[in-house]
This record gives sequence, structure tokens and C-alpha cells, in this order.
Amino acid sequence: MAEVLVYVDHVDGAVRKPTLELLTLARRIGDPVAVALGSGAADTAATLAEHGAVKVLTHEAAEYADYLVVPKVDALQAAHEAVSPAAVLVPSSTEGKEIAARLALRLGSGIITDAVDLEAGDKGPVATQSVFAAAFTTKSHVSKGTPVITVKPNSAAVEPAPAAGVVEALSVSFSAQATGTKVTARTPRESTGRPELTEAAIVVSGGRGVNGAENFAIIEALADSLGAAVGASRAAVDAGWYPHTNQVGQTGKSVSPQLYIASGISGAIQHRAGMQTSKTIVAVNKDAEAPIFELVDYGVVGDLFDVVPQLTEEVKTR
Ligand code: FAD
Repeated sequence: MAEVLVYVDHVDGAVRKPTLELLTLARRIGDPVAVALGSGAADTAATLAEHGAVKVLTHEAAEYADYLVVPKVDALQAAHEAVSPAAVLVPSSTEGKEIAARLALRLGSGIITDAVDLEAGDKGPVATQSVFAAAFTTKSHVSKGTPVITVKPNSAAVEPAPAAGVVEALSVSFSAQATGTKVTARTPRESTGRPELTEAAIVVSGGRGVNGAENFAIIEALADSLGAAVGASRAAVDAGWYPHTNQVGQTGKSVSPQLYIASGISGAIQHRAGMQTSKTIVAVNKDAEAPIFELVDYGVVGDLFDVVPQLTEEVKTR
């Protein structure tokens, strides 16, 4: 069976969930070979093997932390030369998409970004994307070179599938560009204790209907009762009620959770672009004609100041 390279997103050896989802998808195409780089790379091996990696290629070097993405591209290119894979899969994070684009350029390959599903096809892996502000769903394959595909978080289940997970050291020679841009400082964001917006299984979002920064406490309370991340429409962000890092939509983040709850959000096309691939969509809006109701699985016509606290109390009793 053909091998499929999977770029491992990890923090000091702790593998992040989007990578485990990639392993589920990689198994549909071939045998997953994981590439883990930087501090703690070898510590990822057991988890990756539990989720189907037949091989784990590791390389630890200070360059991965000290410089921007080019050292990682050098390593993936080295892994590509070593393995000749059927595809390279990378999580659709900001960094992941830059790595994938640079790698595809180097390999002279086609690239597909923000896939939401992946299956085997006669002409190589077939990726499903949601395009034109989620107005269409397309299926496509790469016709030139090794397909490089980035996949959005929450596009597949995490499925244990024990495999050999043979650990091999990857030999990497860094290119002249690798040390071109040095990281001089990292400022960690203040933690809210909530999951990362793009990776969360549940997202609770508020819009202009929330009517003030202080009222976002209602949205946060529902989110916390569900272990969810908090999102916001651009109207709420532009009004200064919630940080831009939480904006969902065309000019914000793209999310694809199992459950998306929109409160006081009308459902403008630019908002839909960032959440329409959510598996189940619930909206609370006092206007029965609001466009958001065209795409919901469950809709509540009502005042969010009545409905959302009731929902929070109900969730807490379960
Ligand atoms: P509104 O459209 O004003 O809707 C508020 C809703 O709240 C209404 O439906 C109302 O009935 C309801 N409501 C009011 N009070 C209550 C209450 N008490 N209880 C229940 N419901 C209530 N938008 C984004 O969200 N993300 C983006 O990334 C984004 N990018 C954009 C990019 C461009 C280039 C442009 C032009 C626009 C972009 N927008 C984006 C803006 C977008 O067009 C909308 O203006 C925005 O999404 C509206 O936000 P909203 O739904 O919160 O506000």
C-alpha cells in the first residue's frame, strides 16, 4: 500500500487533535507515515502508533523553534524524498497552510487547502472543499506531482487503530533560507481555559444581538457549561465587545465543529463562510425571518436573553 506523509502538529511531544484526525483520513488513502519535528518529537511516537502511523520520522533541532516555517518545509521535503508518498497531509492551521504552500511549490505539486473530507480515488486522493463562502461543495484531486492537502480541524473522527509506529531518525539538511527569519520573542495568549476556537468540538457564538461586551457573559456561561469555545460575529467584534481572535467568518476564523450555536447572529454570507461546514447548527434569534434559519438544524425564535440562560441551566442539570 502507498505511504502517506502526515505532518505532526505537537507541543513538546503532546500530539494535537487535528493530527490524529489526519491519521484517520490518511488511512483511507494508504499507510500513514508521520513526520514529527522539534523538541519532544520522539515523545509523539506512542500516540501516533496508537492512531495508525506505521512509521514515525523524527528530527529534533533548535531551528524548528528559533526560525519560522522554512526548517519544517526542509524536513518535509527530506521526508518526501525518503518515502515517495502518495500524498502529504498537513493540518489547516495558519502555519500548516504556509508549510503546505511552500512545500507544494518546491515539489512542483498541486495543492488543495481547507479540505473537509478525503477519500481514495482512481486518480489519487479526492478532497472535499466548501468554497465560495460555503455556497458550493466541490470534490477535486491534484493532477500534478504529489498531492499536498491541508485538512480543516474536526473534519474526521479520532479513531484508535494500533500500528507499528516504527521510529526512524529523519536526516535533514537545512536550506540557506531556513535561518532567514528568526523568532525573537513569543508572547503566549492569556488562557481562557476554553478550547482553541478552530479545534473545538462545540462553538457558541454571539452577534450584534448580544448588545454589549458585558452581555457576552451569557454566551460564555453557555460555552462553559458545554466545554465549548466562544465565537463572535464581525459586528460584535467591530463593536469592541469581543476580541478579533474569536471572530468567525470570511475575515475571521473558519470553524467546523460538531455543534455550532449562533445567538443574535443574522447569518450574513460572510459569517456563514466560516461556520457552514459545522455538523449541527443551532440558532437563537428573535427574528423568524433571519437568514440564519435557512441553514440551521434546530432554530429557536426567541430573545437570547431568555433562551440562552435557560439552555445553560438545562445543560448544567444533565
Ligand atoms: P446583524 O446582521 O445586525 O444581526 C443581528 C441579529 O441579532 C439579527 O438577526 C437580530 O434579529 C438578532 N437579535 C437582536 N437582538 C436579539 C435578541 N435579543 N435575541 C435574539 N436575537 C436578537 N461577518 C462575520 O460575522 N464574520 C466575518 O468574518 C465577516 N467578514 C466580512 C467581510 C467582508 C468583506 C464584509 C463586507 C463583511 C463581513 N462580515 C463578516 C460582516 C457581515 O456582512 C455582517 O455584517 C455580520 O456578520 C453581521 O453580524 P451579526 O449577525 O452579529 O449582526
